[in-house]
Amino acid sequence: MTPVIETIETILVDLPTIRPHKLSMTTMACQTMVIVRMRHSDGIEGLGEGTTIGGLAYGPESPESIKRNIDTYLAPILVGQPSGNVHTMRARLNGHVRGNNIAKSALETALLDAQGKRLGLSLAELLGGARQTHLPVLWTLASGDTRKDIDEALSRLDQRRHCDFKLKIGSNPLDQDVRHVAAIKEALGERASVRVDVNQAWDERTAVRGIQLLQEAGIDLIEQAIPAREHAGLIRLANRFNVPMLADEGVQDARDALDLVCGGFSGAFALKISKSGGIYSALEVAHVAQAAGIGLYGGTMLEGTIGTAASLHAWATLPEMGWGTEMFGPLLLKDDIVVEPLNYHEFGVEMPMAPGLGITLDEEKLAHYSRK
Ligand SMILES: [Mg+2]
Repeated sequence: MTPVIETIETILVDLPTIRPHKLSMTTMACQTMVIVRMRHSDGIEGLGEGTTIGGLAYGPESPESIKRNIDTYLAPILVGQPSGNVHTMRARLNGHVRGNNIAKSALETALLDAQGKRLGLSLAELLGGARQTHLPVLWTLASGDTRKDIDEALSRLDQRRHCDFKLKIGSNPLDQDVRHVAAIKEALGERASVRVDVNQAWDERTAVRGIQLLQEAGIDLIEQAIPAREHAGLIRLANRFNVPMLADEGVQDARDALDLVCGGFSGAFALKISKSGGIYSALEVAHVAQAAGIGLYGGTMLEGTIGTAASLHAWATLPEMGWGTEMFGPLLLKDDIVVEPLNYHEFGVEMPMAPGLGITLDEEKLAHYSRK
């Protein structure tokens, strides 16, 4: 008998971060994740995670809205349906619910995790097989303090934990941000690649001035300098400068990717399963990029271990991540809710190999950090 989806439970989990994490729109001291437990009639449980950053400061979905919308609108569409056909379940969700990409991503992950466990295949195997199982991982320096950031970077280099660093800028006046970035690049020199993420904070005029200075300071990559919807502006910046642009918030799905490519964009795309609405949609962005000769970068919404593992399985199926990944979410958290954490070493992380996501929940920790 074909198994069906029996119940879908959502749990808000609040985990403290190891230090304040300063972004252009907010400062985080805690990360909230929505954990999905999807139980099937054959006794298998699929896990998923829906996570965003900064409440509603970053985007239109908050942890609370993700939970409420899954409970009220998305779960009832799936419960009672056959478990094994992920594409049909994606079509059902997209047919009944607009937007809510982070919620959809969490559910798709849970479906794939269950199917992998059912078939005895890792999620990457379910997607056709891994081309690589150790993926490079950068670290984001975002303490808000130049000296602390330099010390943090040097210790990560010495531990062989990370050799690429991303700085979150855009909340301070331009000259102050540039001084901060240039000081860090100078301190690290050729030992490390230094990139910046402006998280849409600049207008195009400010971006032209800022990118010129950052290019002169030896910065390797400029992420989403201007607002997401300003595709034409991003294309102009890509054509104007030698330092490559990384589109993040501006490339949510394959349609955005196609628009940017057709408009003459060059540089790189940040892939994120959460912003695209799941692994398959994120891989569609990757395929447009590959066809157009655009670089790939594995992005994070600062997910915990479950969301990070799901992304790793997806990125592992791609032939090359030219700009590496930022799948460091679990390292920013003081504790975890899984039995075996991900294995970070040699400037990267190992994809888990067990069936499905390869992740087991620690029930005690989960209960401890669940919002009461
Ligand atoms: Mg970004």
